[in-house]
Amino acid sequence: MRTIYDETIAQLTDWLAQRGQKSYRAKQIYAWLYRKQVSSFDEMSDLPAALIEQLKAEFYIDPVHLVDKQVARDLTAKYLFEMKDGSTVEAVLMHFSFGESVCVSSQVGCNMGCSFCASGLLKKQRNLTAGEMVGEVMFIERELMAEGKRVGNIVIMGTGEPFDNYDNVLDFCAVVNSDLGLAIGARHITISTCGIVPRIRDFAAGHYQYNLAVSLHAPNDEMRRRLMPVDQAYPLDTLMAALKDYSVDNHRRLTFEYILLKGVNDSDACAIELADLIRGMNAYVNLIPYNEVDENGYRTTDGRTALHFYDVLMKHGVKATLRTKHGDDIDAACGQLRARHELGKE
Ligand code: SAH
Repeated sequence: MRTIYDETIAQLTDWLAQRGQKSYRAKQIYAWLYRKQVSSFDEMSDLPAALIEQLKAEFYIDPVHLVDKQVARDLTAKYLFEMKDGSTVEAVLMHFSFGESVCVSSQVGCNMGCSFCASGLLKKQRNLTAGEMVGEVMFIERELMAEGKRVGNIVIMGTGEPFDNYDNVLDFCAVVNSDLGLAIGARHITISTCGIVPRIRDFAAGHYQYNLAVSLHAPNDEMRRRLMPVDQAYPLDTLMAALKDYSVDNHRRLTFEYILLKGVNDSDACAIELADLIRGMNAYVNLIPYNEVDENGYRTTDGRTALHFYDVLMKHGVKATLRTKHGDDIDAACGQLRARHELGKE
């Protein structure tokens, strides 16, 4: 059994065709799932009984079950969901002036091993399916609907490396982006990668309209390698070459994420080196305050130094934004809530 949220409209249409069902049934099923947001096939009252039985034989609807939820003073909410096989993942809801934004996880655990990140405390157990990621969003969408709101933006920045689960992540994007699904515009969906170059090239070749964000966190290989083992496989020259090709061929602006770590990557020299690396590209740098994780000793850069880093970048011709912290009174750092639950079990 799998969740029906796994199915893109094209896949569902094929599934129906293989069972001798009319293709327009796919639209009806999508309307029940994503407009009326039903939780059982029996509610799909305009489908023939035989089709309902066929659906029930192969699919369930809701893949996630809430195990824990923390709400911060600024109302950022962190959810811990359990999948059917007992594995757990996190998602976060953030309230911005431009709308409600959901951060979804793409894998159970992560193998990228970034030294500052709590997600890597637990190794990858498996990829999430497209439908399990849809399930994270649907749970939160239902909660928001009750308040007359909707999910407006999706960032794939929770636990996991989306480009290590490429096909499922793109199917997930197709479902939430579909006019018949949640109809979240492609420009409101952001995939964040630590820099898996071959998948960046695939993504570029696919001419997808989703936003691409790249976790950089250091201006040179020597420093980046200490923070992010992925830099050994894909050093900055190959990464930047792929990103330049992507942004030129697709006419797209890139986002570079750069966590400010006190005394590690936040000096003037780092800012200048970073500016030299990026200047001339259609890109900007999102400076992110670090959410401290007890287990690793990294500290966040203070506000004044962060602002100075921002000024140096701007002065050297690179656009930047300085993100404010969200939910820092809860376990909001990627993987923190889950790590606490899972490690607590051992
Ligand atoms: N694997 C993908 C997406 C998940 S991480 C990637 O690397 O981009 C999403 C972002 O959160 C990345 O930029 C990551 O480096 C950052 N991040 C991880 N731990 C963090 C922490 N404790 N505080 C702030 N940002 C963190």
